[in-house]
Amino acid sequence: MFLIEETLALRSPSGPITMERAERIARGHACENCGEYNYKRMVVEGVAPSKRSELGEVWRVNKTCGVCGLEHEMGISSQGDVVYVT
Ligand SMILES: [Zn+2]
Repeated sequence: MFLIEETLALRSPSGPITMERAERIARGHACENCGEYNYKRMVVEGVAPSKRSELGEVWRVNKTCGVCGLEHEMGISSQGDVVYVT
């Protein structure tokens, strides 16, 4: 099942990214404050179409830096782009 999904994802790069992919993207984004990639808490949730901003975030990530403790909220689009970070 996983292999089939991966294959489909590769064949249609324009399709929406999975939650796992969104989490990987979020983990690959350094802390805005200290530049580390160490997060002690990360929550990824889907955003309902009616609650998306004009930026078009499909996934919303709340994460807490494991080094400086800064909390970030991040929006990730269906294409896997980080559309905002607070
Ligand atoms: Zn930090």
